[in-house]
Amino acid sequence: MEEVGTGLLDRLDAMQRVAASAPGGPLLIVAGPGTGKTRTLTHRIAYLCAELGVFPHRCLAITFTRRAAGELRERLDALLGDVAEDITVGTFHSVGLAILKDNARAAGLGAHWRIADEGERDEAREQAGDDDHAYRKLLRQQDLVDLDDLISLPVALLRDEPALVEKYRKRWQWIFVDEYQDVDETQYELLRLLSPPDGNLCAIGDPDQAIYSFRGADVKYFLRFNEDFEQARLVRLTRNYRSSAPILAAAVQAIAPSSLVNGRRLDPARLDPEAPLVGRYPAASVADEADFVVRTIDDLVGGLSHRSLDSGRVDSRSVAAGNLSFSDIAVLYRTDSQSGAIVEALSRAGVPVQKRSHNRLRDRAGVQVIARELRHAGGLGGSLAARVKLTAQVLAQRFAAPTLDGEQVTPEDIWTAADLLRPLAQRIGDDMPRFLQEIATGAEVDALDPRAEAVNLLTLHAAKGLEFPVVFLVGCEDGLLPLRWPGASEASVAETIAEERRLFFVGLTRAQDRLYVTHAARRFRHGSEREQTPTPFLDVIDSGLFERLGDVVPARPKDRQLRLL
Ligand code: ATP
Ligand code: MG
Repeated sequence: MEEVGTGLLDRLDAMQRVAASAPGGPLLIVAGPGTGKTRTLTHRIAYLCAELGVFPHRCLAITFTRRAAGELRERLDALLGDVAEDITVGTFHSVGLAILKDNARAAGLGAHWRIADEGERDEAREQAGDDDHAYRKLLRQQDLVDLDDLISLPVALLRDEPALVEKYRKRWQWIFVDEYQDVDETQYELLRLLSPPDGNLCAIGDPDQAIYSFRGADVKYFLRFNEDFEQARLVRLTRNYRSSAPILAAAVQAIAPSSLVNGRRLDPARLDPEAPLVGRYPAASVADEADFVVRTIDDLVGGLSHRSLDSGRVDSRSVAAGNLSFSDIAVLYRTDSQSGAIVEALSRAGVPVQKRSHNRLRDRAGVQVIARELRHAGGLGGSLAARVKLTAQVLAQRFAAPTLDGEQVTPEDIWTAADLLRPLAQRIGDDMPRFLQEIATGAEVDALDPRAEAVNLLTLHAAKGLEFPVVFLVGCEDGLLPLRWPGASEASVAETIAEERRLFFVGLTRAQDRLYVTHAARRFRHGSEREQTPTPFLDVIDSGLFERLGDVVPARPKDRQLRLL
């Protein structure tokens, strides 16, 4: 822990310091990737509490994923020590849940209400047909709520009860929201109820990284912040501490045609004249693309021959002999279906991989089964250890069968859900209901272990907010990134392309030291092998920023015939 109060702002640059020490009232921090948003946010909270006498229990910090919430919590603990415990840190869902818990009866819920699991949700949905109203009525009859209810029920409640609004506005006088560009309408309404128009609401984010409109997020709430919250102060952070200058220049050029930020600026804090250019590899095929990734990783970690092939594990000393370890490397792709070829090639070469998909944890069949078992075991009482043991036994028995209740369960599911290897078990403590709720409200699989000695495989959506020394962005092809769905309406095309370009921008800006972009000349898509062209997103980047690796001329069937002739 740092010495509280002294030099809290010393580790921030001038603009970060302005943001962190701004007085109360609405505050919007517009900040590009790698400009230190989380750092600034946590230091602001710490500064307010340690220097300005704001009570930690009056503070509410909201993020979108449990992982991000956990990170905020850790950094606040480090800055403030024990005091940080009194700060409410959570996701929108967990904040909604807390409000609902305190007011269940007023919200029309019975004594035994709980969050429906996926099976229960499906059953009620099936009965209700397409009728959302009927579906909710069915849930309520069984005293169940779903995830949307966790936010919409508190919103409805607060709208009807001005006294309750007052109570919560008094309770949380300081509200902080990270990634504000990704709020949806209901979350926005909740914030409007929790914070008066002139309240101490601090929102931080980057409109150019808004990538969740497909699930209802709308960047307009970010863009009109200063209309909704009176006399909002605006601070911009423009210094990027993450990426080398060539990587940052490429990213800035890539976003330019779709940027939502007036006068967007992003200046490199890193000015190493030796920084390598962005590697660009035109692959002949998907297999060739995967081989390139393997070969390059081989070079980077100083020769894969050091690995122990038997165990598939890597001797950490041999990895250290190269300058990088596998965990410093990420392979990013637009759709999960692209990961197969990469996983296969890396695994064949003996490279350990860990994959993080954006599938919601709670939606995974295996997790559902495990949660059900845990709930059952929980009903039996006894200590956490006893319950976990019992659950493990039940699962071990059932595991002998290929499926559980017709649902496939993998060992990975078990570890993901119970996480008995890792700190989650500690967090569960003896609070089983809370653990189950965490599973139910977890926005995504948070299973990526930064310490695992493995190459990280992620979708672009899942990579948001993360950083890696080495990034491969594969499949930079027209139709794949931007992704085009067959039958997409003309009207939606322009907006879709803008959002896909933001996704491309998110991908490029994950890289710290080395960035590689690849595209394959041929790929199996929509049921047949197709010829692919590089994404037009690459065309707006100055070719001087690329180092062209390999020189594969895409072999068209026609060319081949010509050569034969
Ligand atoms: P993103 O939009 O991708 O989520 P971000 O704005 O949240 O990015 P951070 O992840 O907080 O950025 O910071 C990026 C990197 O820059 C981190 O490694 C962080 O430690 C470093 N950094 C931020 N501010 C400073 C600073 N003032 N001095 C040195 N390093 C800094
Ligand atoms: Mg961030």
